[in-house]
Amino acid sequence: MSTNTCLSCGACCAAFRVSFDVSELESEGGCVPDGLADRENATLARLRGTDYARPRCVALIGEIGREVRCGIYRERPGPCREFAPLAEIGHFADACNRARARHGLPPLPVDRD
Ligand code: SF4
Ligand code: SF4
Repeated sequence: MSTNTCLSCGACCAAFRVSFDVSELESEGGCVPDGLADRENATLARLRGTDYARPRCVALIGEIGREVRCGIYRERPGPCREFAPLAEIGHFADACNRARARHGLPPLPVDRD
């Protein structure tokens, strides 16, 4: 497995609420575009679309399970950076499969080490 798995998956971008510190917003000196986020409170912001009943981050481009990419890959917030790096090199997590199951995608082999 390789980065290609994430590029043909994208399930985690359409399964979980993605909240992050407001300091990551462009307007606060970070790099996440303000227009793609909602403020939850004084300290937290949330990627727009990730709190919907059927979540989907507004920055996600493409069709889940076929071909996807993050429209703000270089500017994505911390939780996105922390979630995918291992998967990008082929080490998948239970959370990947929980997200994939929401989209009817088959499970990936999970590292138990
Ligand atoms: S991190 Fe996991 S759920 Fe997210 S795109 Fe990659 S394989 Fe899919
Ligand atoms: S910012 Fe990019 S990586 Fe993060 S949830 Fe949205 S589409 Fe996925």
